[in-house]
Amino acid sequence: MELKQFVPSEVCLACDVCCRFSEADSVWSPLLTDTDICKIPKQLINKNNKLRLVPYNDVYLCPCFNPVNNKCGIYNNRPLDCMLYPFLLAKRNNKIFLSFDLKCPFLQKKQGSPEFKDHVKYLVEFLGQDELKELIKRNPQIIGDYQEDVVFLQEIALK
Ligand code: SF4
Ligand code: SF4
Repeated sequence: MELKQFVPSEVCLACDVCCRFSEADSVWSPLLTDTDICKIPKQLINKNNKLRLVPYNDVYLCPCFNPVNNKCGIYNNRPLDCMLYPFLLAKRNNKIFLSFDLKCPFLQKKQGSPEFKDHVKYLVEFLGQDELKELIKRNPQIIGDYQEDVVFLQEIALK
């Protein structure tokens, strides 16, 4: 499954927001689908089916993250949640929304721009594919219960 990225890779490589977390059990650590779990080495996954974050200086890192070069060690097999980010799936009033995280400095700048709107349309179409709808239905854990810093964009209907 390939997903077009909105944030240019050179921007992400120079940013220190993603893949690092303030707590060992952060709600922001990637949410894994059953398909993701099959692709990731078992020793990197904890008993809650989440990535086993590792302490590093005063934060916790995704075990797949290399802090020396800022790169993901499983980039081509990274979880859907990571492919989508800084967009994400969030729930409100029992509905699922394509949303985005204001903590991403690039999206803060680009929100509302024509390219942002085009990308939202692209993601809504992507998530509306039967294969994706089935994946989401099978894996409700990937719909986050976030509220803070999350901007709700458009409902994703799974029926
Ligand atoms: S916060 Fe945004 S710019 Fe920074 S690494 Fe994450 S996606 Fe890239
Ligand atoms: S799997 Fe890769 S992209 Fe996702 S949090 Fe870990 S290092 Fe970052």
